[in-house]
Amino acid sequence: MSIVSPLKKDDIAQMRADTPGCANRIHFNNAGTGLAPAPVLSAVMQHLDLEAEIGGYEAHDAHLAEHLAFYSNIASLLNADSSEIAFIENATRAWDMAFYAIDFREGDRVLTGRSEYVSNFVALLQMKKRAGIEIDLIEDDETGQIDLKALEAAITPKTRLIALTHIPTFGGLINPAEEVGAIAARHKLLYLLDACQSAGHIPLDVKAIGCHMLSGTGRKYLRGPRGTGFLYVSDEVLDQLEPPFVDLEATTWTGPDSYVLKPNAKRFENWERYFAGQIGLSIAANYAIGFGMDKISDRIIGLGHQLRDGLASLPGFSVHDKGARKGGIVTFIKDGEDPQVTKARLAEAQINVSFSKATSAQIDLPARGLSSVVRASVHAFNTEDEIELFLACVRNNVTP
Ligand SMILES: *Cc1c(COP(=O)(O)O)cnc(C)c1O
Repeated sequence: MSIVSPLKKDDIAQMRADTPGCANRIHFNNAGTGLAPAPVLSAVMQHLDLEAEIGGYEAHDAHLAEHLAFYSNIASLLNADSSEIAFIENATRAWDMAFYAIDFREGDRVLTGRSEYVSNFVALLQMKKRAGIEIDLIEDDETGQIDLKALEAAITPKTRLIALTHIPTFGGLINPAEEVGAIAARHKLLYLLDACQSAGHIPLDVKAIGCHMLSGTGRKYLRGPRGTGFLYVSDEVLDQLEPPFVDLEATTWTGPDSYVLKPNAKRFENWERYFAGQIGLSIAANYAIGFGMDKISDRIIGLGHQLRDGLASLPGFSVHDKGARKGGIVTFIKDGEDPQVTKARLAEAQINVSFSKATSAQIDLPARGLSSVVRASVHAFNTEDEIELFLACVRNNVTP
């Protein structure tokens, strides 16, 4: 039961008015890219225009305050300190900058779960090959979330890190990040949370979660520009991590033979970047905070339930989301129809969905006997009417 006061009708109308993309199509691909709202679009375009008009360095000087606001806005979104935030070009590299910063030794063990993101998992495999780490794959519990008892039982003196994906790319699951954080704290383990699908989707509080490192993207539920992301690194673990790459942004070159790392999370950044995008992501975080992340989240989860229940009640459809808590990502299959065909059919009706394949989920979908699923992911600006229309289209092969 929700104790959050819901988004008002006016708020939803405002969100839709701010979202040019929702006028002519039903966008249920927010786990792919959220539709950017007008304040984000205009901030990006204003900066690009200024770069063209007066020069890139000069535009940066002129928009320095907007650039710096990125750190405080992302910090507010996460309940972190501005000094703990780095701008990185996407969530994958953000995760990498944290993961590859750990000084792994042969025999070190990393705990992870079945919903881990493909790029994280291949990085684990590379580190296994390179440094001889062991990967401990924790099974799901009976609800489909990471098994907390099995996780704690798998900890050994060699365990260094828990790497968890909060919300997977291929399903509705919301993993119990806070409970995992309590286990990490009890056993003094580093904890890296992939919050790529959860940022902008559910409220995030790094202190309540207890993660030391958290990665996120701009382009999905935060509705920021593509090619933007961020990394949170707690001040507490900064000195345990050695950035895998350093440059003039990450360091100060103090003499011909010396440099010092920046005293904060900036040591994970690099110098050249998409400034318009960084400003756009800052505005996107601020936009979400303005409506209230708890309210946005409540609506996303509510719409997710409506869509999931609607699909489950259609004859000839199966729904494949797992977990005790589920969010706005809904995965399903229509009997006898390849998910790619379902996607193409919906595209003809101006409905955007995506599909997830085994190659993005080698330790999850195949184990459940699935080779691919259709993924429909809703956001707060979507409506109950859109869900009804979607259900009619997906079922009847009709266009709206
Ligand atoms: C999309 C996704 C990523 C990668 O995000 P990018 O910004 O494209 O690098 C990482 N983890 C999860 C769970 C994702 O869904």
